[in-house]
Amino acid sequence: MKYGELSNFIDGKPSCPAGVKRAQRISPVDGSVISTFPLSGIDELNKAVAAAKKAFPEWSARTIKDRAQILYKYYELLSKNLEECAQIMQDEMGKNLKESMQETAKSLELTEFACSMPQVATGDSERVSGGVQSREEFIPLGVVASIIPFNFPHMVPHWTFPNAIVLGNTMVMKPSREAPYCAIKIGEMLKEAGLPDGVFNVVCGGREIVTGMTEHPDIKAVSFVGSTPVMKIVYEKSSAKYKRCLALGSANNHLILMPDAHPDNSAVNIAASYLGCAGQRCMSACVLVAVGDCDGIIKKIIEESKKFIPGDNMSAIVNAEAKISITGYIDRAEKDGAKILLDGRNAVAPKGLEKGFYIGPTVIEAKRGSEIAVEENFGPVLTVVHAKSLNEALEIANSSPYGNGGSIFTQNGRAAEVFCDNIEVGMVGVNVGVPVPREPFSFGGCKDSITGTGDITGKSAVRFWTRIKKITCKWNPEGKRINWMS
Ligand code: NAD
Repeated sequence: MKYGELSNFIDGKPSCPAGVKRAQRISPVDGSVISTFPLSGIDELNKAVAAAKKAFPEWSARTIKDRAQILYKYYELLSKNLEECAQIMQDEMGKNLKESMQETAKSLELTEFACSMPQVATGDSERVSGGVQSREEFIPLGVVASIIPFNFPHMVPHWTFPNAIVLGNTMVMKPSREAPYCAIKIGEMLKEAGLPDGVFNVVCGGREIVTGMTEHPDIKAVSFVGSTPVMKIVYEKSSAKYKRCLALGSANNHLILMPDAHPDNSAVNIAASYLGCAGQRCMSACVLVAVGDCDGIIKKIIEESKKFIPGDNMSAIVNAEAKISITGYIDRAEKDGAKILLDGRNAVAPKGLEKGFYIGPTVIEAKRGSEIAVEENFGPVLTVVHAKSLNEALEIANSSPYGNGGSIFTQNGRAAEVFCDNIEVGMVGVNVGVPVPREPFSFGGCKDSITGTGDITGKSAVRFWTRIKKITCKWNPEGKRINWMS
């Protein structure tokens, strides 16, 4: 096994009680067993929360500038280890090395933003009446939790822990069962960067750990990224215990293609959008709404798609169940009368990777409202539906219960403005396949793609990971400027 027997990372050291059940991690790249990891019980979660609680007083008492210094060191270490982290990601969940490297580079950018927190989370102050000064300070919450999905096992941890800890919190993270070592490795590097023991902890496991996090009295806030059904469970359970919760869910992103769109630019961007990470991205293109006659551009998208070769420049599907689920969606669409314009079901993996899990690029022309056009299949599948006008296309896109991202491809500024004004999503693109804003702008959708207040990254993160203390002082009651409000 390439990575051996993994342990939790608690209080700055590996932790794995004897006798705990273990699961195997099978690499989707080639089907080999690369590690085993603990399916921890509540005892391990309690131990991690206790370590984080113990570390909180000293950590939160440091200045934000001191805490940021450790993140600067972590940034340097991560820069040196980008390739190793990317390799772990590829082995664990199948994202190819190039895309994994792009993800670790994004983790660097997120860390860089957290390093700037002393300039961002400055609080506020004003003379509110004669001789009276009020000020606001951002106060850390205590022990906080972060629950991670499989598809961005390095970037999503960096959405949460750098901001949470630089603002003075201590954290317990639960990685996906598909990529436990990605998170453990972060813990190891943070320790090497000088983070005090207990400030960042990782507990591997399943539902029991997530439920335990939502119920633990010492956990003050829960962040979750994953599918909408689980998002709702986590939000309901956390709120029932009066915890702060921000939870991000599924997506079914619509791209609107206008007949005047730049053919080559659109084809390249749209193909890359639905095929990146083999479609396993919450910002992937899912439904292409073609307005009027876009046949020429659709042909070009198909030609571009053929350049993506599973197991070569195209990532694997995370596990056997996901492959069956995606194939099932394509099979049912075909049965339902949809036209398969490009079929990736019988993708052949390169030599040596035959036991891996792969699906090739798939383009389907389907009816508006059909299952393949409405549900998230989380695979390398682009569903084309047709609309007569931009208004009809917007109506189709806005009928989705999800609201993560959406883009228009056009060379007409007016059409782009109408789209930006009327599309009901959190992240909007014009001629951009994956409209993810870069730091310092925040990440977050709307509708069933998120629940809770604010976004998870950027300045919005300050509000989520802190409470505001309001301090009002009067030091000179005899002063000339004192008035009746004082
Ligand atoms: P998932 O919901 O299955 O799992 C997410 C986390 O919740 C994992 O750590 C998992 O162990 C845990 N979990 C799973 N089922 C649970 C249950 N019943 N009770 C408690 N915990 C449970 O999601 P996934 O398959 O890992 O990730 C893919 C999904 O995440 C897709 O729907 C994708 O759109 C979404 N996603 C959304 C965003 C976003 O920013 N909106 C980002 C990445 C992924």
